Amino acid sequence: MKNADKKLTLSWRIGLPQWETDEPFENLLALLQEHKSVVDEVAMFETITHHLYIPLDIYTRRMELAAKRLEAFRQAGIPSVGINVLCTIGHVNEAWSCMPPLPCQPMVGHDGSVSHSCACPNTPEMRAYVRAKYERVARARPDFIWVDDDIRMHCHGVMWGCFCPTCLALFATRAGRSYTREELVQAFDVPGQGGVRELWVEQNIATIESLMTEVRTTIHKVNAGIVIGKMTAGAGWTTYSGQAFDRWFTALGATKGRPGGGFYTDERPLDMLDKALECGRQRATLPPSVRDVQYELENFPYQRLKKSPASVVNECSLALAHGLNGVAFNMLAIGTTFEDILPWVKAIPAARPVWEKWVAQAAGLPTAGLWPAWSARMMARRSVRTGESWLGWSGRHNINIPKVLGDIGLPLASDTPACGTVLCGHVAEVFSDDELKAMLARGVLMDSTALELLTERGMGHLTGVRLAKRLDNGLWERFTADPMNGRAAGEIRDARIEFWGDAKGMGDVLEPIAQGVRVLTNIEDYFARPQGPGMTAFENELGGRVVVMGYAPWIFLHSVGKRLQLQNASDWLSRDTMPVRVDETVPLVAVARVAADCQRGAVMLLNVGFDPIPEATVHLRFSCSQVRLLTIGRRAQVLPVEPETTGGRITLKDVEPWGLRVLV
Ligand SMILES: [Zn+2]
Repeated sequence: MKNADKKLTLSWRIGLPQWETDEPFENLLALLQEHKSVVDEVAMFETITHHLYIPLDIYTRRMELAAKRLEAFRQAGIPSVGINVLCTIGHVNEAWSCMPPLPCQPMVGHDGSVSHSCACPNTPEMRAYVRAKYERVARARPDFIWVDDDIRMHCHGVMWGCFCPTCLALFATRAGRSYTREELVQAFDVPGQGGVRELWVEQNIATIESLMTEVRTTIHKVNAGIVIGKMTAGAGWTTYSGQAFDRWFTALGATKGRPGGGFYTDERPLDMLDKALECGRQRATLPPSVRDVQYELENFPYQRLKKSPASVVNECSLALAHGLNGVAFNMLAIGTTFEDILPWVKAIPAARPVWEKWVAQAAGLPTAGLWPAWSARMMARRSVRTGESWLGWSGRHNINIPKVLGDIGLPLASDTPACGTVLCGHVAEVFSDDELKAMLARGVLMDSTALELLTERGMGHLTGVRLAKRLDNGLWERFTADPMNGRAAGEIRDARIEFWGDAKGMGDVLEPIAQGVRVLTNIEDYFARPQGPGMTAFENELGGRVVVMGYAPWIFLHSVGKRLQLQNASDWLSRDTMPVRVDETVPLVAVARVAADCQRGAVMLLNVGFDPIPEATVHLRFSCSQVRLLTIGRRAQVLPVEPETTGGRITLKDVEPWGLRVLV
């Protein structure tokens, strides 16, 4: 696997108010020294606002001070110290009334709106300012420089950028004809796939790529030994900027990565699973030269009661489970009192030994399980239908929907090819025929919307079924006597499909078009009148195993029977390679890392319920004659393993609510 460093790095991001004057800095040093067992690295933010422009005379003096602070950190024994450049383009509109206006072209939105705080990254004036800034940062002699995640072309106080005259002129060269902003936005919505949209995303990628080249050249002109890192944002919401990590990290010469996303509070605790998967996806697309990959622990704006220390530890653990090997703690970034953050800081030392063992043990092993398909080209390649806006949110292309499979305990993978692919909605349309056939030659779990799309692409025969009719009200599904349903045979699953908005795609009746199609459920109306198959399984001519779901495929999968059926279906389509399976219907979620030859593996399990789990029978599908159980704050324990044909079985006892268990 990529990003295979065995070393855990715990990094702290320090806000300007903590180092700009002496007294807070002394307090900060004392705090870091008191907790030095969890301080491997310190990164100083060089500004307090997300507004790009700071006059260079101020910036010069600030970087002279930064050089002294870096030296003080070194004297205090902190192994690695550097600077986090918060703004290269600018993040959002912030503090524009109390900061000087941008001295260069601001970013212009698709609607003509103009950013207060973020610049167009393509003008020579902007590039000159960025060079001047990074030159001063490099002269402060940091061990490393982080480039923050404002390196994107969306969400800069204007929603979608940049449509300024410079960018439109660049695009005219690229497209071979000129467009006004209005013409271009109109062209984005012309139905079909690709075309001008793909070219525009390429312009976004190339813009960032050339900006990154300029940053690297500037830094390395001062000192070629400075390590560079780049922070990234996820693809779950949009890939408008192109998500071209290979090109951007290469242009920047970055060897540090920091995947990020949103999980700011305890309001929806399960969101930590989504963020871990999202960060895993980002990690999986980094070039192999990036070996230090730090999770963004983000408690912005850092108020004590918004997130519990238990969540902080659990979300970091899940991120490490998904293949990251460090954490960048963002909790010292603004001028809050230490009282707000201390409980978080104090929770970390106890977790460190478990994290270290996990990183050492799991390094190099890919995540295993079902891979929810996505692509960095989602926006570039996806279709637009008549009346749709390309820049608007498209539920048809939402790559986050299959995460519900993780919530019921099926392990989700962030690496490919994984044990099987999940195709949801219209996501499949951004893949080539060859890519889709490669998926269908292995194992695929899909919904009936994906089926419809594959049928249009001439690959319906590889699924064994076709979409017979679309119903949208008054329906449930009944489990057949197929062995894949086990003891759930005959049961009903009623998702009350009309309650959750448009029920199109929730009552799709399937029709077998080949011999050997297994029908797993039948759709019935509320008077038990059969409507036809609602879920099928089929082994195709390529040897791939395909499961199609026509009834409420992504909601209410949490019943005893449905969970059991989906576990069995996943085992079947993956040919019993799903890395971990828990017998009891308990809210134990799992992330697994398994060697391609299944000779080695490691599993992290988290109880995401509010009740203790008295007992859980866990099947591991990799070679495991001995399993060590690691629990934060407790001594490691060797568990007895009951051998099974595909691995071994262990029993976990008394997992407390939100308790973490690590098996290595
Ligand atoms: Zn521009």
